[in-house]
Amino acid sequence: MNLVALPAFTDNYLWMLHDGRHAIVVDPGDAAPVAQALDAHGLTLVGIVVTHHHGDHIDGINALRPRLQGPVWGPATERIPEPFLPMRDGDSVELLGTRFEVIDVPGHTAGHIAFFGQPAGEAPILFCGDTLFSGGCGRLFEGTAAQMHASLSRLAALPGDTRVCCAHEYTLSNLRFAHAVEPGNAALSAYIVRCEDLRQQGLPTLPSTVATERAVNPFLRASQAEVRASAVDQGAAGTDPVSVFTALREWKNVFR
Ligand code: ZN
Ligand code: FE
Repeated sequence: MNLVALPAFTDNYLWMLHDGRHAIVVDPGDAAPVAQALDAHGLTLVGIVVTHHHGDHIDGINALRPRLQGPVWGPATERIPEPFLPMRDGDSVELLGTRFEVIDVPGHTAGHIAFFGQPAGEAPILFCGDTLFSGGCGRLFEGTAAQMHASLSRLAALPGDTRVCCAHEYTLSNLRFAHAVEPGNAALSAYIVRCEDLRQQGLPTLPSTVATERAVNPFLRASQAEVRASAVDQGAAGTDPVSVFTALREWKNVFR
């Protein structure tokens, strides 16, 4: 199975999964890069997977329909261009022969979902839209900090070798924030060097892995002493994980 990040707009990635003949695309906010990739590799588009309703994730769907030979799967409780098959927590869908489970991850939007699959003989794959980013997480447009914390905790519990396919290249700016939160995190410092190097070569920093995110992402590390201490400095209401997470999210919103 080939997993490809198609750059779109200024910092989006449209993820494409293909086997050399058939392709699935995730969150096609723009049809053009998808059409280009399909043509370049002679692929048939057999499905579209959608994580949430924002325009940069859905605006290319209708333009792709004429060449789509399969369904659109999307979040059951959000407004996605019809027709689509509504997916809820615990549902599963077969993508190119691999079963992907749907996980509810409210927070960025109220009905946001993620897709997790384990292709035979390969590391697992997570399509998490705008919920989990490398070194960061999505903004809380429609959900609470407690919801987002619970959603991220579910993703952090997936196998460590899971390939994390985030929808935006926000890694370097997230890591500047992460370093402010946890200046003593050696794994984070090493990861920053690695990601800066990738970006200098014009390469994506993604996919990340769940193990990497557990080690470097402050939003998954609310129970670590240094993270907790930084959150308290920023006025966290308490030292429990949700209070720490809430303070981090508010701090990140104004961090420059
Ligand atoms: Zn979004
Ligand atoms: Fe987005």
